[in-house]
Amino acid sequence: MIQENLKKVKENIEKSCAASGREREEVTLIAVSKTKPVSMLMEAYDCGQRIFGENKVQEIMDKYEQMPDDVQWHMIGHLQRNKVKYIVDKVAMIHSVDSLRLAETIEQEAAKKNVVVPVLVEVNVAQEESKYGLSPEEVLPFLEKVAHYSHLQVQGLMTIAPFVENPEENREVFHKLRKLSVDIREKNINNITMSVLSMGMTGDYQVAVQEGATMVRVGTGIFGERNYAVR
Ligand SMILES: *Cc1c(COP(=O)(O)O)cnc(C)c1O
Repeated sequence: MIQENLKKVKENIEKSCAASGREREEVTLIAVSKTKPVSMLMEAYDCGQRIFGENKVQEIMDKYEQMPDDVQWHMIGHLQRNKVKYIVDKVAMIHSVDSLRLAETIEQEAAKKNVVVPVLVEVNVAQEESKYGLSPEEVLPFLEKVAHYSHLQVQGLMTIAPFVENPEENREVFHKLRKLSVDIREKNINNITMSVLSMGMTGDYQVAVQEGATMVRVGTGIFGERNYAVR
């Protein structure tokens, strides 16, 4: 099942790239494996998938131990400051930097381990109360404050779009995130690049790719529905 699902998702990404005049290589697929057992991750691994997304620190640590060394782990969920130290040298990217205090902690813990952590700033584009992330207006002042950090490198923006029936309803959200990243890029802030746009999940990644996503985070579409009750 995973093999077919992966193939389908990749085909859809390719189609969306073609439809919007983009190169397939511009889009990275993150297989969101939260709640799923290592056996399922290995199935995806055996199909060539190397990039996995998780939203819990403990789960990253467990799976990090069990999976091959060449897996890249992406932290995509809300991160508590007291847990940063456990993953700062294990993850390829943290997508969910949503406060200055968290950025400070990442900088400090990364310095202790002598690593530079690529991060994205999470933006609550739709301004949903239930979601983490900076409001679009807060992003530029935030970047000016973290630009001098030497162990945290901002590479772009991330958003979790609202849950909608019709993915077209999120096109505006994705368009706004892209516009924000273009506006920021034009400011040429030292040490800040805007090369990554992490947006789009199972329900809406095709629209996100059409609107410029460079990373899509797909869970259900690869591994099937999550059953939180039996965890
Ligand atoms: C769970 C999760 C996803 C994947 O969601 P699906 O709808 O299963 O594709 C993507 N991004 C974040 C931040 C998530 O927590």
